[in-house]
Amino acid sequence: MKTTRLMTFESPIEANIVKGRLENEGIPCFVTNENFSNLMPHYNRILDSGVQLMIRQTDYQKAVEILELNKEKELLCPNCNSKNVGISLGKNWFKKIVVIFVSLLSVIPFNNISGNYLCKDCKSEFKNK
Ligand SMILES: [Zn+2]
Repeated sequence: MKTTRLMTFESPIEANIVKGRLENEGIPCFVTNENFSNLMPHYNRILDSGVQLMIRQTDYQKAVEILELNKEKELLCPNCNSKNVGISLGKNWFKKIVVIFVSLLSVIPFNNISGNYLCKDCKSEFKNK
């Protein structure tokens, strides 16, 4: 029996809610990496770490349907509603690169840097949410 990672969560609470939902549907699953994420929460989302929900490979498709994972929220430009959107580092990209560089030197994670989105049609920048 092969297992596969279904989703990665930032908090064990979230992971266990989804776990409960899948178990209600008869899909066996388990949560892994919970302790590491509790001990070092600032490493979450870096290098793909975080609380991981594991399921059997054979259940993957069913789980995706139950959780409606395929229905991704479409990213639209708030200015012109264009779908032609890319990622931009923002106007102060140099500052962010310095922050990344300093955090690499000091071994402090830099998860507080959020990228902006850039509309390729009207050239306006916006943040997601
Ligand atoms: Zn736009």
